[in-house]
Amino acid sequence: MSEFDMSGGRGAASDGGLPRFATSADAVAALAPAEPVYCLYPRLLGEAAQAFLQGFPGRTLYAVKANPNPHVLRFLHAAGIRHFDTASLDEIALVKGLFPDATCYFMAPGKLAGAAQTAFDRYGVRHFVADHPSELRRLLAIADRDTAIIVRMKAVGPEAVYELSSKFGADEAQAADMLAEVAASGCRAGLAFNVGSLCRHPDAYRRAIAAVGRVLESSKAAIEFLDVGGGFPAAYPGLELPPMTAFFEAIGEAAADIGLPAGCELMCEPGRALVATGQSLIVQAILIKDDLVFLNDGIYGGLKELHISDQSVVYPWRVFPGEGAAGGAAHRETRRYLISGPTCDTLDILPFRVELPADLREGDWIEFGMAGAYTNAMSTRFNGFAPRHWVALDGPDAAPPGLYASA
Ligand SMILES: *Cc1c(COP(=O)(O)O)cnc(C)c1O
Repeated sequence: MSEFDMSGGRGAASDGGLPRFATSADAVAALAPAEPVYCLYPRLLGEAAQAFLQGFPGRTLYAVKANPNPHVLRFLHAAGIRHFDTASLDEIALVKGLFPDATCYFMAPGKLAGAAQTAFDRYGVRHFVADHPSELRRLLAIADRDTAIIVRMKAVGPEAVYELSSKFGADEAQAADMLAEVAASGCRAGLAFNVGSLCRHPDAYRRAIAAVGRVLESSKAAIEFLDVGGGFPAAYPGLELPPMTAFFEAIGEAAADIGLPAGCELMCEPGRALVATGQSLIVQAILIKDDLVFLNDGIYGGLKELHISDQSVVYPWRVFPGEGAAGGAAHRETRRYLISGPTCDTLDILPFRVELPADLREGDWIEFGMAGAYTNAMSTRFNGFAPRHWVALDGPDAAPPGLYASA
């Protein structure tokens, strides 16, 4: 497939060649895209960043793994994000290449051989996580007194759609021992946890911070950082969520309850919550066999999370009629379709039916909203299909589907 001509945007050059349109309808009309197109809504990315920068009672790190697209990173940086949770030398190189002033934190518990040393030497990384004594020993061997070593604890609970503690995190007794070892080494010490991804209630953070209190008490060590991780939710259709401020308040209160000293800085590592709403994904129906719709993207591409999230993640949509469709279809009636991706693999099919217009036609485009987190980030290049196209939508009426009543 050839690259389609992306020159239809207005003022393409200002942002690393990112084509700009007023709305997704304008982008579809100008591009008639045969390949999937990710649409960025800079205003929404900025608002999500501001919610954390103003509301979280501490330092906000963006977890790059949720969406490493350089345009996304630029918009978050422009909104004030200066700290980045990274898990690999590639992510660190990406961030430092774009923003030499940014601070990267190496927060993957299992690091590749030599990666921590390279991060330390070449990129000046001074914050590292460990959740096991063997990794801690490797870090202590390279650390200086300015280095923060942050011990990651387990945090489990039913609130999160995905747990991150069956293979990560030290239990309380081990965390206390490791923390004491960090303190004895003279390095800066911290504790961290991750309640899981897509956490639906702040109680998960409250419980984890209470466990932090117990570890501090038994280790008798002081910490300079308490990192409450990521997991903050995004409002996918059908999820009932407290407002983000309820999460921030719960974290602040729980930290006060355990008597966290004023000198200890809270940190958080949101991925999903910073990027989910600010990016949509335009796909095209390429073949319709009765109730089986082939899209130009699927579970090996941007729709992977629909496959693994047990239907907690579903995307709101709107449809743009394809070329030659008679006028704008009303799309009042819907039908439950099986959805296939474009690859030559029978497994490339969504595990549940998706409600789409009953009059959907081959050539129609579908804009999926809330497609900013874990979409392009998890996409493969299987069978030659890869995420390649981004546009920015910045007109006064730009709004992804599902966010506003008028959309
Ligand atoms: C994945 C991850 C995050 C981000 O998680 P979200 O649920 O996207 O907020 C933060 N920290 C660590 C260590 C992670 O692995």
